Amino acid sequence: MATCAIVGINWGDEGKGRMVDLISNDYDVVVRYQGGNNAGHTVVNEYGKFALNLIPSGIFRRNVLNILGTGTVVDLEHLCGEISRLQQAGIHISAENLKISDRAMIVFPFHREQDVLEEARLADKKYGSTKRGIAPVYGDKYQKKGVHVGELLFPDKLKAHVANILEWKNLTIHNVYGAEPIRLDTILDWLIQFGEPLIPHIADTGGLLRKASADGKNILFEAQLGALRDIDYGIYPYTSSSSPLAAYAPIGSGAPGLKIDSVIGVVKAYSTCVGEGPFVVEWFGPEAEKLREAGGEYGAATGRPRRVGPLDLVATRYGVDVQGATGIALTKIDVLSYLDEIPVCTGYEIDGQIVTDFPFHSRLDEAKPVFKTVPGWKQDISGIRDYTALPAAARNYVELIEQEIGCPITYISVGPGREEIILR
Ligand code: GDP
Repeated sequence: MATCAIVGINWGDEGKGRMVDLISNDYDVVVRYQGGNNAGHTVVNEYGKFALNLIPSGIFRRNVLNILGTGTVVDLEHLCGEISRLQQAGIHISAENLKISDRAMIVFPFHREQDVLEEARLADKKYGSTKRGIAPVYGDKYQKKGVHVGELLFPDKLKAHVANILEWKNLTIHNVYGAEPIRLDTILDWLIQFGEPLIPHIADTGGLLRKASADGKNILFEAQLGALRDIDYGIYPYTSSSSPLAAYAPIGSGAPGLKIDSVIGVVKAYSTCVGEGPFVVEWFGPEAEKLREAGGEYGAATGRPRRVGPLDLVATRYGVDVQGATGIALTKIDVLSYLDEIPVCTGYEIDGQIVTDFPFHSRLDEAKPVFKTVPGWKQDISGIRDYTALPAAARNYVELIEQEIGCPITYISVGPGREEIILR
């Protein structure tokens, strides 16, 4: 039995879905352990191109059991839509290959509404929320005002619980934001429409995982977002509301006692960031436009243009540390083929001092990037499958990153397709 976590090292969108789709061939179980449908994991394979929001990226492998773990938050309406969109594309999804933890939290329509109302109130100080209700539902979870997916199995108790929650929630929605109060019958109808079809998928995922582990099965944990968006270790408050760290994977899966054997940290060959918050290496103007176009850097979940810049080795080193990465998958290196020279950020200048350790977030707005520039390779590398066949400048780029972050780069992705990969 082997357990592995595939996690983001930076701000998310590193290509985790692509890596899970590739590697899941060797695994029996794939578990999403945090976050909700604010994720957008892009997978390109023989079935087509998909942006998965909630469903684990192992869904394309017929023999894989896919789990939405205890640490996830599930918008039932969105999940029903996502299942039917994938089924229409010919992907097999049943209660046998997709399980939802009974302890996952339900994202209700009023969470989405609260997200929108709060971002509007914040106006130009907004956090850049995806407006999918993720922060409100995690907030409610920790205030012990959430509803577990497993409560769908007990309709009478659920009805009473939801009535209590609404009494409380309307204090915020109606009294604070001045919006129309949420009606109980509307929410109960919603639960019937989108909750009932999902009932066969609900399970004690901890039990399933412990059994899989006892049977010697291989388990892959799939993170959403990246280290810099972690609620505790990220660039707070411009973080997500959950923990995308590998260390959280067993807890968020349902089986906290599981040990992780390896952690594959996914690093994009340059930096991108969606939403607000400090982004030290950011490029603007035509330079940014070119990189954004070359990399197709528009959010998979929201379509928002991503902020872009050169690879930030200060942030990447930090991401590798907090993720406890044992190996790196470097993605999208093919995108850099148009550049004559490639800058990489090796340090930050703060108050006249050069720092190479990622600083506390309050200092990030003072940080100026210190760049080192290396030669580009100026040729299409997307067809290359053998490391030694890469141009010397591309190999130098890979080896420079490896040296700077102190972690071996074991996969080099040269295109979005499943086979566009170099194993090292
Ligand atoms: P995730 O959320 O970490 O799974 O990443 P996203 O799906 O948000 O963003 C990654 C994007 O890059 C997707 O559009 C992928 O299809 C694409 N992609 C992944 N790896 C590569 C690569 O090596 N080269 C290129 N050109 N595109 C890639």
